This record gives sequence, C-alpha cells and structure tokens, in this order.
Amino acid sequence: MTQSARPSGRTRALLDQSHRWSAHNYKPLPVVLERGEGVWVWDVDGRRYLDMLAAYSALNQGHRHPAILQAALDQMEKITLTSRAFENDQMGSFLEELCEATGFEAALPMNTGAEAVETAIKMVRKWGYEKRGVPRDRAEIIVCEGNFSGRTTTIISFSSEEQYREGFGPFTPGFREVPYGDVQAFREAVNENTVGFLVEPIQGEGGVVVPPDGYLRATREICREQGVAFMADEIQTGLGRTGRLFCCDWEEVRPDVLIVGKALGGGVYPVSAAIADRDLMDVFRPGDHGSTFGGNPLGAAVARASLRVILDEGLAERSAELGGWLMEALRKVESPHVDHVRGKGLMIGVVIRESSGPARPFCEALMDRGILAKETHHQVIRFAPPLTIERGELEEALESIGPVLQGQGVAM
Ligand SMILES: *Cc1c(COP(=O)(O)O)cnc(C)c1O
Repeated sequence: MTQSARPSGRTRALLDQSHRWSAHNYKPLPVVLERGEGVWVWDVDGRRYLDMLAAYSALNQGHRHPAILQAALDQMEKITLTSRAFENDQMGSFLEELCEATGFEAALPMNTGAEAVETAIKMVRKWGYEKRGVPRDRAEIIVCEGNFSGRTTTIISFSSEEQYREGFGPFTPGFREVPYGDVQAFREAVNENTVGFLVEPIQGEGGVVVPPDGYLRATREICREQGVAFMADEIQTGLGRTGRLFCCDWEEVRPDVLIVGKALGGGVYPVSAAIADRDLMDVFRPGDHGSTFGGNPLGAAVARASLRVILDEGLAERSAELGGWLMEALRKVESPHVDHVRGKGLMIGVVIRESSGPARPFCEALMDRGILAKETHHQVIRFAPPLTIERGELEEALESIGPVLQGQGVAM
C-alpha cells in the first residue's frame, strides 16, 4: 500500500462542502469515499483503502455483496414499502428465517439499532408490569458502566459517557448502572423491581472491552433465578463478528431478548429487530408499538439475503479463524506505544498507552498507508474488517499496521 499525496482540490472542496452544510456531530477522518467493493473502498482521487472499520460492523458481508444487491434490486422491481397497515409477502419469511437462525419464537422488526433497543426496553418493562407484577412506573433495568446502545434520549439516559448526556437532559429514569464484568455487583443490584439486564457481550464503543470468562453465563443464571429478562445487545457483536453467530454463543448463553441490527441490513439498508419468545413478545398488542418502515418488504428482502450470506459463507467461522490469526500477529508487533491487544474473532482493539497520546494520530497514519480504522474511546484502535476478508489481505495490511503501531508516520 502506498503513501498518499496531500488531499487533492476535489477532496478539499468536498470536505469543505460537508462541513459547511452538516451538523458537526462527528469528527470523521478526512477521506471522501465514492466507491466500495468487498473489503475495499476508493476515495474521489482514486486511492484505494482497506476498510477495517466496516461501518462499525454493519458491513460484515463486505461492500455491495452481489447476493444482497441482487435481492435489493429484485425487490425494488416489485414493491418497497407497504407500512404495517397492510401485510407484505417478505416480512413473514424474514422473521421466520431470523427466528430459525437464532432459536426464538418471534421477532419485531425495526430499522436502526437504537430503535430495536428501545423496543426491547418497552417489551421488558411491560412484561415486568403484566407478568411480574412490578408496581406501575417502578420497573428498573440494570445496565453496565461503559455501555453504548444508541443515541435516543432514553438510551443516553443510562450512558456513563458524560459527553453523550451533557446538555440533553432531563433523562428517562428507571436504569441502574453496575460495573461491567463484575458478577457480584450485578447480583447486589438486583431488587424486586428489576425487570431486565441490558448488556453487550463485548463493549464495542466502550473500547472493545471483553468481560471476564463466565460473566455472561453467571449473570444469565442470576437473571433466571430472579426472574429478570437477560437482554443481549448484539447489534455490533452479533451476526458472526466475534467468531460465533452471536457472541453469547461463546458461553452457550441464550438471552431472553436478543437485539440485532447493523449487519442484518448487509450494508445496504437499515434493518434491526428485537427477538424473544412469546411470553415476552406477546405483551405487545395492536397499537402498543410500531414503525412506519419497520418490516418493509425492501428491508425484509435485504435482511433475508444478508442473513443467508452470513450463514452460507460461514462468516462466523472465518471470523474465528482469521481473527485468531490477526490477534496473534498484532500481539507480536513490538512497540513501546501498544499497551495490549484484546477482542474476539475479527473484533479487535489495540490499546495505545496514554503516554503515547491518543489513538487518533495512529488512525490518521494508517489512512495515509491505505488502511481505514477508527479510534474508539480515545486510546483504542479498532480493527473490524468485513468478515469476507482473505488471509492474504490481512497479511498485506499487517505490513502497514506494524510500522504505524511502532510510530512510523504518526504525528505524536
Ligand atoms: C451501533 C450500536 C447501537 C445503535 O445502533 P444504531 O443503528 O446506530 O442506532 C446499539 N448498540 C450497539 C452495541 C451498537 O454497536
């Protein structure tokens, strides 16, 4: 991979235009992409990059996977949106296939991840009132320090990230925070009004934080004993990312509510879902909840193809194998700047020492060498390429990643 020239006039103009007209709620790397295929993307100056962010794992199947594109094109020739006022011929098959793949009885389709989390929160609260007899408006959901489940006002109400909340109150009550990975703290936080435990099996935005072995199983068991719904936010960890179809599978944990999104839309269309058995799902009755676009035939057709690609191409197995290899290779890089490397499958975080400054300049140096990765939580470089990546492509990438981790081209 070659060292890039300075941004061209075209790139500069597009960056300026975007800055001029957008809200400034992101600080993207200064690269303007116009094309993508598989694991590769190209900028407007024709430079090629390896996409090692994969849209925060919404692109597990790679850019423009032909089977997913074909499903979208075919469906667009027929019908794209009906609203839930009518039935369409794709949603039932989509939900059946999703439930078969996950082993649950029912699914409620939404669009973005945050909406699916909101759906799960509403489901579990209502279940708590109707089935558990929790007094009205007293239901509590336990969440973990360092959580990320989206950006709605309710979801940021239980964020421990000050910036996500600052200036956005008042907040939704009914959440209690415990340290992530601490079974005892969870056990002590459960009380008679606890209806749910919302947890990411690995915290992605929190910095690719892997809890101690056995944490999911132990908290799952406590939930079972106490009649608390175990809600797994697998929006980022799910659908093959960590080397199993779902990250909970590593500990043979079956949640009560499984929340999926991101890669369910195959990088083409936003599709998410809250998945559960009937005892929970059936608290929703006509009029209780909804979404204009949720379950639409275009999204359903895209999601069916996206799921099929993950299963048929064995992407979870690929992730386990290649992720294991990459993690080991990254751990072998000798660098005074790297504190440690952590993750599972192709969800890997390289933690930069505080004394070496933030991770951002390392990501900029990677970009100059044709590798797109993004820092998360200041000190962590996340490597999470499409799961369709080849071993040879990872080997090639490592030739650039190694020197950058050692500080080459990094503005420290
Ligand atoms: C991305 C993400 C969400 C939110 O998904 P959106 O589609 O951005 O609303 C929720 N939970 C986790 C774990 C995520 O990574």
